[in-house]
Amino acid sequence: MYPFTYTKATDTREALDAGQRGGRYIAGGTTLVDLMRETVERPGSLVDIGGLPLHEVRVTEGGGLRIGALVTMAEAATHPKVRIAYPVVSQALELSASAQLRNMATIGGNIMQRTRCTYFRDVTADCNKREPGSGCAALEGFNRTHAILGTSDSCVATHPSDVAVAFAALEARVHLLGPDGERTVLFADFLLKPGSTPNREQALRQGELITAVEIPAHARPLASGYLKVRDRQSYEFALTSAAVALHIRRGVIREAKVAAGGVGTVPWKLPAVEQALIGERPSGRLWAEAAGHAADGARPLQHNRFKVELLKRTVERQLRIVGDIA
Ligand SMILES: Cc1cc2nc3c(=O)[nH]c(=O)nc-3n(C[C@H](O)[C@H](O)[C@H](O)COP(=O)(O)OP(=O)(O)OC[C@H]3O[C@@H](n4cnc5c(N)ncnc54)[C@H](O)[C@@H]3O)c2cc1C
Ligand code: SF4
Repeated sequence: MYPFTYTKATDTREALDAGQRGGRYIAGGTTLVDLMRETVERPGSLVDIGGLPLHEVRVTEGGGLRIGALVTMAEAATHPKVRIAYPVVSQALELSASAQLRNMATIGGNIMQRTRCTYFRDVTADCNKREPGSGCAALEGFNRTHAILGTSDSCVATHPSDVAVAFAALEARVHLLGPDGERTVLFADFLLKPGSTPNREQALRQGELITAVEIPAHARPLASGYLKVRDRQSYEFALTSAAVALHIRRGVIREAKVAAGGVGTVPWKLPAVEQALIGERPSGRLWAEAAGHAADGARPLQHNRFKVELLKRTVERQLRIVGDIA
């Protein structure tokens, strides 16, 4: 371990001031502390934000749902408003990590978590994300769990969050607070594709704090759910996953929100799948045809070609499951 300072912010202003001075926010600590132990991350100063008033889940005036950044994964997963209105969010959270971790870990920390690429976490390996310009050991290394969508010549790591996939599907917004005030960023613009700067992962500015994630109102009834495919049935990250939400009225699909996880450098929205569904009547054939677009644009690596077919099947299966309950 190496030296760092620790302060607990008593109010938001104190946290923002410390963040402006280069302090690193810590919420549940379930991933940042691991990275510090492995010396992948070496912040000189930690600012504990656990005491800030960001613990609320509430329905917005427009009929959406606002989930405070410090709401734990367990609280969000079991909250009646989340469970009833957005099962896709609830299920994505319950299929994440372990019960102990979900009791500590927060929504803000979850979407901020860093990749599980083993080379990123091995400080002896070349990694452009950890050390810009050093190279990418995964390109020629063992890349079975890596991304097939949104990759670049600099980085092919997946974003590991499950609930971020549900947020991407539902076109959520991230509420931010910084020294210059509040702003809102579309979830699709919040997490950044690697391009030539894989070390830049989110649209956060220096010292900015995530205050909440807001899911906008969607047409009702909205049936939704999350399917996660992984090497073992618990305590494992996704090889592929699918978040699906469908609004079906008078036998016709009026709204379709679909995103995939485990395959993209960011949670991967699937507009071609959505477009293939809207205006159509549910059927086995429709699910298969729409899911056929799930891997459009994929660039598989040596060890993860299987993800192309697995992704299509994951999306097809989840469309069928959600279509049956819609
Ligand atoms: C063994 C294991 C298995 C896991 N499995 C899964 C899984 O299957 N699916 C999944 O989705 N996740 C999984 N996770 C990840 C887990 O969900 C994250 O560790 C957790 O959500 C992080 O939340 P936290 O509050 O502990 O974040 P912290 O560790 O406190 O912080 C993480 C990062 O977020 C930043 N941060 C936190 N809050 C804010 C804020 N409000 N504003 C700005 N920045 C902030 C911190 O500065 C830090 O960079 C797993 C983790 C472990 C250790
Ligand atoms: S895939 Fe990205 S995170 Fe992994 S080694 Fe390459 S640059 Fe680093």
